[in-house]
Amino acid sequence: MKFIETRGNDSINPLEVEFSEAILSPISSFGGLYVPESLPKLGVEFLQKHKNSSYKTLAFDMLKKFEIDISDDILNKALNLYDNFDDNSNPVPVVKVDENTFVSELYHGPTRAFKDMALQPFGVVLSSIAQAKEQNYLILAATSGDTGPAALETFKNKDRVQVACLYPDGGTSDVQRLQMVTEDAKNLKVIGIHGDFDDAQAALKSLLSSKEFNDSLKEKNISLSAANSVNFGRIIFQIIYHIHSYLELVRANEITIGENVYLNVPSGNFGNALGGFYAWKMCLPVEKIIISSNNNNVLTKLINNGVYDLRDLSVTPTTSPAMDILKSSNIERIIYDLFGDKRCKELMYKLDSDKFYELNSDELKELQKYFSADFCNDDEGKNYIKTTFEKGYLMDPHTATCFKSQKTCATKNIKSIIYSTAEWTKFSPVIANALTGEVDTKDIDALKSISEVSKMKIPSMIEELFTKDIAQKTIIDKENISKEILDFL
Ligand SMILES: *Cc1c(COP(=O)(O)O)cnc(C)c1O
Repeated sequence: MKFIETRGNDSINPLEVEFSEAILSPISSFGGLYVPESLPKLGVEFLQKHKNSSYKTLAFDMLKKFEIDISDDILNKALNLYDNFDDNSNPVPVVKVDENTFVSELYHGPTRAFKDMALQPFGVVLSSIAQAKEQNYLILAATSGDTGPAALETFKNKDRVQVACLYPDGGTSDVQRLQMVTEDAKNLKVIGIHGDFDDAQAALKSLLSSKEFNDSLKEKNISLSAANSVNFGRIIFQIIYHIHSYLELVRANEITIGENVYLNVPSGNFGNALGGFYAWKMCLPVEKIIISSNNNNVLTKLINNGVYDLRDLSVTPTTSPAMDILKSSNIERIIYDLFGDKRCKELMYKLDSDKFYELNSDELKELQKYFSADFCNDDEGKNYIKTTFEKGYLMDPHTATCFKSQKTCATKNIKSIIYSTAEWTKFSPVIANALTGEVDTKDIDALKSISEVSKMKIPSMIEELFTKDIAQKTIIDKENISKEILDFL
C-alpha cells in the first residue's frame, strides 16, 4: 500500500511513498500529512474471523492488510511488547460500568497512558528501519504530558535513534514530569519550555520544516522524524484496539457481530478518534463516534457548528491537560478523507492565515454522519469521577469528560465503548479532590489517599518515580530550542 498527501503534491515530493518513508518523514507537501491511498476493506467477515483471536493475532492480520513494507519479524517483535502490559494475554481489558456503558482501558502499559498502545510497537518499527538503513535519526516529540514519557520509554537505549522531547513546564502533572525528567539514557534529551502545549507543538512543526535546522542535522549525518500522532506509524496501531474492544463485547455476549455501537473518545490531537474512524470505514459497525472535550472545546464547535475558530482564543488549563489543545492535528486527515486534498489544503491554509475556517452546510452534514460532540467542564468532570466511583468504577479526568457526552450524545439505546486514556495514578491530585475533597495535594500524597479509599494498589513503576534522581534539568524559552537540541547532539 502506498501513502499519499492530504494537501496534494508540490511536484518536489514523490507522488506516493511507502509506509517506512511516511513514518521517517511524516510531513508532506505544503505542510500536509501522509494518509493511506485507500483503506483495506475488511468487512464484518474480518470480525467473524477474529472473534476469538488474541490481541496480537488480530493486530498482525490487520497490519498485514495494509501491505506495509515492514517485515513479519519486525512486526512480531513490535507486537510482542504488548506481552509486557499488566495482563499478558489481553493488553486492553473492557470493563462494564452499566447496562450500556463499557470502558476500554488503554492504559495498562509501562507509562500508564494510552500513548503506549501505539508508541511501544512504533519504537521497534522505527528503530528497525533506522538500523536497516544504517541511518541515524533524531525523533522530536512535543508532549502535553503523556506522549513524552511513552516516547522516551520506547526509544531509550535504542541504536541509531536519539530523542528530543519538548514539554510545557508547569503544564503536566508531577508524575508525568517525573516520568520524563528521571529518564537518564544517553540518547534522550528532555526540554521544558516556557509556554503551553500548542507552543511546544508549533516549535516542533517549525523545526521539522526549518531548512537551517535540517542542514545542521545533515552536517552531523542525522535525519529528522517525529513521534507525534501526525506520524501515521502511530495511527496504524491505534486502529487495532477499536476493533479489539468491539470483539471483547461480542465475546462477553453483550452484542452480536453487526450491531452498531457508539465509540466515545476523549480527544485532543484526534489520533484516537481517527483510529476509530478508520476502523469504522474498514469493518466496524459504528453508530457515531462521540468526540469528548474539556473547556478547550474547538472540536465540539467544529462538529456541532462547522466552524473551526481560533481567533482570540488561547488554551485554558484544565484538569484534563492531555486535551488542552486548540490545533488538533489529525482533523486534517478527516477533512482530507471526506472532502479531498484540494479542499483540505484550502481549509488548512485558511486556518494558518486567518485562524478560522467554516465548512459549508453539505460538508457539515457529512461530518455529522460520523461524529457528534460535547464538552465537559472541570467541575462536571469531578462530579462524574465521584459518582462513577460510588457506583464502583475509578477513572481519570480525561475519561470523565466522556460521561457528560454520553448523556447528551449517546441518544440511542445501544452499547457504548468509552475509551479510558489514562490510569488514575497519572492525575491523582484531581481525583483525590473529587473523591475526598482534599485540595492542593502533592501527587505522592494523593496517590496514597486514593489507594486507601479505593483499595487499588499504586503500580511499582509509579511509586518508584518519587525516589529516582532528576537526570534532565533543562527549562528554556522556545527561541532557544534549536540550539539546545544541536548542542545535545
Ligand atoms: C493523548 C491523550 C488524549 C488525547 O488523545 P488524542 O489522540 O490526541 O486525541 C486524551 N487523554 C489522554 C490521557 C492522553 O494522553
